[in-house]
Amino acid sequence: MQFYIETVGCQMNVLDSELVYSGLRRSGLEPATHREDADVILFNTCSIRQHAEDKIYSALGRLKHWKTHKPFGVLGVIGCMAQKDQKMIFQRAPHVDLVLGPGQLELLPETIHQLLDEKLQLRYENQEAVTGKKLLVSLKRLEHRHTEVVESFRLFNPVRNPESRTNRFQAMVRIMFGCNQFCTYCIVPSVRGPEQSRPPQEILDEIRTLVRQGVIEITLIGQTVNSYRYKSNGKTTRLSDLLYEASEIEGLGRLCFVTNYPRGMNDELLQAVRDLPKVSKHLHIPAQSGSDSVLRRMRRNYTAAEYRELIDRIGSTIPDASITCDLIVGFCGETEEEFGATVELVRYGRFKNSFIFKYSERPGTKSAELFSDDIPESVKKTRNNILLEIQDNISLEQNRRFIGRTVEILVEGVSKRFETGGVQLSGRTLCDRIVVFDAPDDRLIGQFLKQNIVEAAPFTLFAR
Ligand code: SF4
Repeated sequence: MQFYIETVGCQMNVLDSELVYSGLRRSGLEPATHREDADVILFNTCSIRQHAEDKIYSALGRLKHWKTHKPFGVLGVIGCMAQKDQKMIFQRAPHVDLVLGPGQLELLPETIHQLLDEKLQLRYENQEAVTGKKLLVSLKRLEHRHTEVVESFRLFNPVRNPESRTNRFQAMVRIMFGCNQFCTYCIVPSVRGPEQSRPPQEILDEIRTLVRQGVIEITLIGQTVNSYRYKSNGKTTRLSDLLYEASEIEGLGRLCFVTNYPRGMNDELLQAVRDLPKVSKHLHIPAQSGSDSVLRRMRRNYTAAEYRELIDRIGSTIPDASITCDLIVGFCGETEEEFGATVELVRYGRFKNSFIFKYSERPGTKSAELFSDDIPESVKKTRNNILLEIQDNISLEQNRRFIGRTVEILVEGVSKRFETGGVQLSGRTLCDRIVVFDAPDDRLIGQFLKQNIVEAAPFTLFAR
């Protein structure tokens, strides 16, 4: 029996799909090269934007013909949209067999085998492949006791299968699940549940296993990774402690972590980043807005001045650090003045780059309930373009400072293959700058190299 997973969304989903792949392989299923050949098709979904959900529903619609040809196959929707839409998925796409939320992934292999067995039985009995649908989701926050909700979001950490990664030198390790911030525009706390930190020993063991499998760079991930905190036997382990311990692992070349919440970027963490040579000097810290009134409406729990103070503190503690940022334009009621404050923050922050999003209302969030999505699309687009242009100029100015310098990069992969032979390889510096250079072949992938920078573009450095 063969399976195929299609993934949309953030790094959390990419990691979940990798873990699901490992879990399904261990359960005896084989990966399919082409979706249509598979007996089990899974969509690992995202709920952050309406567009991502629309795409999944239309992809499910297109799979009706697959179901007609493979009535005994299993079509499943997993991930955030499964937790958010639940039964509605069966109503909108009646040929879906399974809806399973991100807190139930541990049960996925067993549930798929149950469905396949039931269908096989019906096939032997010459009956129609109509089996009961399976809906496995976690409890809704606010409707149940906190401990029950936490228990219903099970952690899923199967033994990792190196085959499941496209790059064998890089891997992500989840150190925490869920989020407790409740930003008004965000669906994540309800679909990924309350914050839960994994035991440090389990994380370190997983890193050791990955390093033995040949991984050089590990990225620790969490929705608010810097709030990692694990208490045991009277001792509290925080992210900075984890960085010190993981840095000791022999064979590990580089250690990164995402995504940070502006609050909780304490001095211990910044000092660990500064002092540990293996730790990436890149900090991704979403600001979302530079206006205090917008930040209040977003319920971000910090002010623009506090965010600036953080930028200053990073600059004085880790002078070679690069900071990247997420920003939302066109949030409910955003005035020109409020948008202007975001422009100022971008100029002040001199971010390496910013990920700029036009606000998209999500049903089920507080902002959808409290405010109106009243900024016209054309205004959102204009503000988006203004910020992009400012950020591009800053990125270019910053990258130009590297011309003539020698930097160390970890070579990650091929960015281009030339018809005449040879390749363009791409790697990253310790402060997350992308460097490309020509090479005769791809044998340098996975190695640390010193490179001379000769040219710069906003997102790329060119080396020779
Ligand atoms: S910190 Fe805010 S934006 Fe980030 S996942 Fe949590 S609620 Fe969503």
